[in-house]
Amino acid sequence: MNALHWLFTRTFTYISLALAILAIYVIGYDMGKLFLWFILPFYGISLLFQLLAPKIKAPLEKNELVTDIISNTVTIGVVNSIQTWGVGIIFALSSSSLLIHFGIMDAKYGLADLPHWLQIVLGLLIMDFFFYVTHRIAHEVPFFWRFHAIHHCAHRVTFMNAYRVHPIDAMFRRYVPLFFVMLTGISNEAFVASAVIGSVLATVTHLNIDLRHGWFNYLIATNENHRWHHSTNISEAKNFSVITVWDHLFGTFYLPRDRDMPEKTGLVDETDYPLHNYWQLLLQPFRKKKADNAPVKTSELMNEDEALSPSQPHLQ
Ligand SMILES: [Zn+2]
Ligand SMILES: [Zn+2]
Repeated sequence: MNALHWLFTRTFTYISLALAILAIYVIGYDMGKLFLWFILPFYGISLLFQLLAPKIKAPLEKNELVTDIISNTVTIGVVNSIQTWGVGIIFALSSSSLLIHFGIMDAKYGLADLPHWLQIVLGLLIMDFFFYVTHRIAHEVPFFWRFHAIHHCAHRVTFMNAYRVHPIDAMFRRYVPLFFVMLTGISNEAFVASAVIGSVLATVTHLNIDLRHGWFNYLIATNENHRWHHSTNISEAKNFSVITVWDHLFGTFYLPRDRDMPEKTGLVDETDYPLHNYWQLLLQPFRKKKADNAPVKTSELMNEDEALSPSQPHLQ
């Protein structure tokens, strides 16, 4: 059993990515079918493994599960539906690039003529660059942090709260990167393939399983490095991108070798915060807080001494 667990924790992510590629090969580039026959079952299996072998075994908090279920349903149901509808409209045009469609850019500069694998890699890199930018904005601009704080409020990182997000935050951090990918003229096939691979990676980042990725942690967002993003300690709460090249480039990659998870996960100031009440969480960004601790700019901390002091400002 121990050998099996060892093997499972070291191969789960790679097997999942291989299965995603196999699913695309077998099912084709129909996003609806891929969602139904690959992504949904993958969610189910991931959840099952998380229930069988959780890393953090703490019992559920009052209303935690119901808040996550409602949030997941709204995010997957509403945010994803609008996204599928919008992307469908753009791909129905003469080119997936709005710039090409409206004659602003010549078609020869679009990605569609490049080899398939290169389009997928470039699509993921471009999408993730804008995901990095919007995610940093969500942390460092108080207006956007009010919405993004909902994703950070839970006391543990699990697959169940991967989609604990305010719909406005989800739309901002998803539609803006998508819009820029849509300017590149990427083919529908490459777009679908990168979306399926992106879904697998997004699931892995929040799995409450003791997965071990070794060198892969330095390349891709995993649950090992994403846990630190949820730390209540600002000097640890980095790792904003999915393809970690952007974090390495902008100096925001964080993965200590001597510890495998932050001491505390969540918000520093939980005063009057409706932690596990979805409808109150939806309203929370519009409320005036007594002590609205503005998020601390990660960039301002780059040159500071990394040593923690009790007075060091914390990320909320
Ligand atoms: Zn964040
Ligand atoms: Zn997260």
